[in-house]
Amino acid sequence: MPEELDPFKIAQKQLDEAAKIMNLDPQAHAILREPLSILQVQIPVKMDDGTTKVFTGFRVHYNDARGPTKGGIRFHPEESLSTVKALAAWMTWKTALADIPYGGAKGGIICDPKKMSQGELERLSRGYVRAIGDYIGPEVDIPAPDVYTTPQIMAWMMDEYSKMKGKNQPGVITGKPLEVGGSLGRGDATARGGMFVLREAAKKLGIDLKKATVAIQGYGNAGEFAHKLVTEMFGSKVVAVSDSKGGIYSENGLDFSKVKEHKEKTGSVINFPGAKNITNQELLELKVDVLIPAALENQITEKNAKNVKAKIVLELANGPTTPEADEILAKNGVFDIPDFLANSGGVIVSYFEWVQNIGGYYWDEKEVYEKLDKKISKSFWDTVSTMEKYKCNPRQAAYILAVERVAKAMKIRGWY
Ligand code: GLU
Repeated sequence: MPEELDPFKIAQKQLDEAAKIMNLDPQAHAILREPLSILQVQIPVKMDDGTTKVFTGFRVHYNDARGPTKGGIRFHPEESLSTVKALAAWMTWKTALADIPYGGAKGGIICDPKKMSQGELERLSRGYVRAIGDYIGPEVDIPAPDVYTTPQIMAWMMDEYSKMKGKNQPGVITGKPLEVGGSLGRGDATARGGMFVLREAAKKLGIDLKKATVAIQGYGNAGEFAHKLVTEMFGSKVVAVSDSKGGIYSENGLDFSKVKEHKEKTGSVINFPGAKNITNQELLELKVDVLIPAALENQITEKNAKNVKAKIVLELANGPTTPEADEILAKNGVFDIPDFLANSGGVIVSYFEWVQNIGGYYWDEKEVYEKLDKKISKSFWDTVSTMEKYKCNPRQAAYILAVERVAKAMKIRGWY
């Protein structure tokens, strides 16, 4: 991988940029440039054919000055320590910006879940938790879902951890199914939080979302719910969506339930009747009002940033835009809402789930939505005022706010 696309190098570069603008204390900067600790484990798993395969897993605690660390677990064939470290850093900024009492962490396993049976996935998930059991806990580090991990996987992990401890421990992990301590509203929280942010951004820029066209890259949890909610909440027209196999475009708009049904039947959104197949790259360059990258890192780069025509980029993916692309987008007047603001709805409702687990008292959906809206809208407007104060772009502003909060907590704890 070329150096400029190395996720952790990118995360460090973003921090360095913010540190310079805000004049961050060099000692705080030194602590924040690296994770506090890294765990790498080998997980032997009995496969269905009787053989044993060994998987490599990671868990990174980036910083816990503001509270127990928090962040998802990704199952992906291209997972790497650099990716996990970057995602753990971004979680640190995400929880700080949302002002929830957590630090940042992330986990991952190098595997291809699409090629594994349910039994194999269950054994891998339980094996991972056995291996990292002493490194997590409701007051230590609280995992959650990320790319290719599901509520079912969270349930297996919670169950394994509870068995290790000899007592029910729902607060060890979030994103669980409702039956075992999940929260109402967690399922679509990432996309819903993104919609609240989009609504505020449209207000700021004077864009009428009812007349807006939208393109969405990625059709996992975030992308699929973004398609549903942007139509339902604002009446916007989604003209393009995509998944790892490719994308589809229709100038008349793509009906959510029909696309979902098509994907369930065929395994992909491509070849949708009445729409034109396009590539993931073409999708990013469409003439739309709102572009929602909701897949993986490094999608908008130095190469294609100049071709992005959207007025707003809502980053539901983590790390979709490189620092070089950031500069180009800002120069071209594209309002790029950074990942750790745009997609923070997931971890905000994870926090609500953990609070409910600890309190043993569960809220209705309306309460969850209202609390999410209040928190994430405040993050948006705090970011806007910081942008104006420092005359910087939205990502730099969000960094300044988040880093300031973490640095203050470290200072008060006496770390520097
Ligand atoms: N994986 C999600 C994220 O990147 C959710 C993390 C969480 O809920 O802890 O924000």
